[in-house]
Amino acid sequence: MNEYDSDKIADVLRASEGIELTDKAEDADIILFNTCSIREKAEEKVFSDLGRVRPLKLAKPDLIIGVGGCVASQEGATIYRRAPYVDVIFGPQTLHRLPELIAARRASGRMQMDISFPEIEKFDSLPAPLVTSGSAYVSIMEGCSKFCTFCVVPFTRGNELSRPLADVMRDIRGLVAQGVREVTLLGQNVNAYAGGDDDGETVDLAYLIRMIAALDGIQRVRYMTSHPREMSQRLIGLYGDTPKLANHLHLPVQSGSDRVLAAMQRGYTALEYKSIIRKVRALRPDISITSDFIVGFPGETESDFEATMKLIEEVGFDASFSFLYSPRPGTPAAEMVDEVSYEIKMERLKRLKTRIDELENAVAEKMVGTTQRVVVEGISKKDEKELAGRTDNNRVVNFVGPANLVGQFVEVSITAVSMHTLRGALAGKEMFAA
Ligand code: SAH
Ligand code: SF4
Repeated sequence: MNEYDSDKIADVLRASEGIELTDKAEDADIILFNTCSIREKAEEKVFSDLGRVRPLKLAKPDLIIGVGGCVASQEGATIYRRAPYVDVIFGPQTLHRLPELIAARRASGRMQMDISFPEIEKFDSLPAPLVTSGSAYVSIMEGCSKFCTFCVVPFTRGNELSRPLADVMRDIRGLVAQGVREVTLLGQNVNAYAGGDDDGETVDLAYLIRMIAALDGIQRVRYMTSHPREMSQRLIGLYGDTPKLANHLHLPVQSGSDRVLAAMQRGYTALEYKSIIRKVRALRPDISITSDFIVGFPGETESDFEATMKLIEEVGFDASFSFLYSPRPGTPAAEMVDEVSYEIKMERLKRLKTRIDELENAVAEKMVGTTQRVVVEGISKKDEKELAGRTDNNRVVNFVGPANLVGQFVEVSITAVSMHTLRGALAGKEMFAA
C-alpha cells in the first residue's frame, strides 16, 4: 500500500511541477518520507530518518522536507514539535494536495499540515501513472472499518470507502493501453469492495474481477489484502471459472487459537478459516496460500501458540509474514494485560518463522523442473544481464533474457532455488489467444 502511495506522490509532483525522482538526498529540492505506523519499529524510524536529513536543510534552507503516511496521520503536529524543520505534513488520503501544500509553505514560510480524510477526492485528482512494467497496482478501496483490537489502520486511513466501478475500469483500461498485462487490486480489505456502478447499484469484488478478466489485454489478476470474514461464495467461485485469477491467495489468519482470534475481534474461528481454504482448494487444488501471523498477542498462552503451529501444518501455508505483536497507542489491545515475557514471545516467533521457511523452501524445491508462466517485471536488481519475473504463485524468478521482454508474459523453466528466489531459463514467449 505504501509503495503504491509513494508512486502516486511521485506521479502528482511530476505532473504539477515536473519534479523528477533522485536517489541522492543531496540533490533533492524536496525530501518526503512516506511513513508506516503498523508497528512501533516502523514508526520510530521516521524520527531517525528526519535527523539524518536535518543537516541538508541547514545547508539549503529552500529544501522542502515533508512527512506523509500513517505516522503523519496519527501524530500530526507532534512531528513538527519533535522536528521543527519539517515543512509539510500530509496523510495517506491527502497526498494529492501536496503541490498546494508545498506552494503554501513556500509562499507563507510556515509549516503546512493536512491529514484529513476527504473521501474519494484523491483518486479524481491523481494524474495517469507512469508505467514501467507489465504489472501494475490499482487501488480499488481505501481504509478499513474492521477495528481488529491490535490494529491502527482504521484510525490512520479512515473508514472503508470503495471507488466507483467506472473509475476503476477506466484506470485499468488506461494501463492496458500502455501495455500492462497483470493488475493487482489493492486495498486494506479488497473483498469488502462495494463500488457503485452507473445504474446506482453496488457491485462486489467478484463482479469487478470478472469485468477485468474479460479485457483482452489482461492476462492475470491478483488482489491484496483480503479478509477471511468476507471471502464470499461468489469470490471463491471465481477460482473455478476464471483462469486469469492468479493461483495465489494471501489471506491473513493472524492466529490459530479461537480464544486469541476472539480477543483480536477477527470475526472468524480457525475452523471457519480452514473451511474457506478447503473450498478454494476444491476448485484450485494447487493454489498457493500465504498468510500473516501475529505472535505474542496479549495473554497468548503456550497452548494458543501451539494452536497456531497446528493450523500451519493443517493448511500447509506457503511463504508467509509473521510479526511480533506491537502495542499501538489508542487500540484496545494496548490496554490488555500481557504477562508473557519478551523472551518467550521471541522464541515463539523464531519457531514459527523456522517452520514457515521450511514450508516455503519445500514449495520452491518442488517447482524446480517445472515450467512457469511469468510476467517480466523488470531488469534484475542484482545482475543487469538478467530479468526478474513473477510466477503465478507469487515467487520471484531471475533468468537471462533480453530487456525487450519486460512487460511480457513468458515461459520460464525453473532450474534452481537460492535463498528466497528462484533461478530459471527462458523456455519461450507465451502465445496467447486473446
Ligand atoms: N487488512 C489486512 C492486514 C493489514 S496490516 C488484514 O486484516 O488481514 C498487515 C499485517 O500487519 C496484519 O495482517 C498483521 O499481521 C500485522 N499487524 C497489524 N497490526 C499489528 C500490530 N499491532 N502488531 C504486530 N503486527 C501487526
Ligand atoms: Fe487492521 Fe486488517 Fe483488522 Fe483492518 S482488518 S483493522 S487493516 S488488521
